[in-house]
Amino acid sequence: MRIKIAAVAAVSALALAMTGCGKSDSGGSTPSVESKVSFEAGSTMETLNKAGSVKIGVKFDQPGLGYKDPAKGDTPQGFDIEVAKYVAAKLGIAADKIEWVEAVSANREPFLQNGTVDLVVATYSITDKRKQVVGQAGPYYVTGQQLLVKKNDNSIKGPENLTGKGVCSVDGSTSIKTVQEKYGAAPKPAGTYSECVTALLNGTVDAVTTDGPILLGYAAQHPDDLKVVGEPFSEERYGIGFKKDDKQMCEFLSKTIKDMIDDGSWKKAFNDTLGKGGAKAPEPPKVDACA
Ligand code: GLU
Repeated sequence: MRIKIAAVAAVSALALAMTGCGKSDSGGSTPSVESKVSFEAGSTMETLNKAGSVKIGVKFDQPGLGYKDPAKGDTPQGFDIEVAKYVAAKLGIAADKIEWVEAVSANREPFLQNGTVDLVVATYSITDKRKQVVGQAGPYYVTGQQLLVKKNDNSIKGPENLTGKGVCSVDGSTSIKTVQEKYGAAPKPAGTYSECVTALLNGTVDAVTTDGPILLGYAAQHPDDLKVVGEPFSEERYGIGFKKDDKQMCEFLSKTIKDMIDDGSWKKAFNDTLGKGGAKAPEPPKVDACA
């Protein structure tokens, strides 16, 4: 199966390279904006469509997923960003009318609750606990937690080697909880994953843990110093966050994710972003029904 997926990914990457349409300025696929969309009167989608803009909370420091490179302008880049742009396009909103708001793991719920953002597309795992306070549609990507260590460290090969080790992860993430509760590591919480990476490079911590594709992005930034080790040891199902109890928004987002998968944009976005960083293209996920 793995071989088949890898082969398909390689063929599509080659096809994209040959046609020259694999890359836009944004580092991903550029969805065309729906010009004639109509939404139910009074729905959040109608309000956003009429306003012509949307505020989306994304990560700014995670290469391959949500990453803002000042040298490349105001638009962040990555797989989450491509998902966000696709959603905006389906709302009838062009990418340049998206207000990108930096979210970190701990402020995603409050940002949705207090209206700082309309949506969150920020490596945001769907969990029962989060669903008590916000809405989450998806998954649009399923991945798992791994470990990032120094390249010359052979003592940590998987989570079973973490007992007593200083492991950095981020406040408000599922990653810090898992490593603390299941593996007896000494957690070193930080505000962002890039702070964790700095601590690992400085030798202040022994490992950084979060979802594999996030770690691969950092390993690619420091190929001589860092490596990702072990198999995934959790299941992280990324969802799009919205305000709790907005059932219409849930239906809209779920359909939009399915459309993105069905029309090929999902695969293209993956290949143009995470795929370039070495992440294996998975089978597209099956989207949950809205409760
Ligand atoms: N996906 C996990 C979470 O939502 C870890 C990555 C992150 O902190 O954004 O908590």
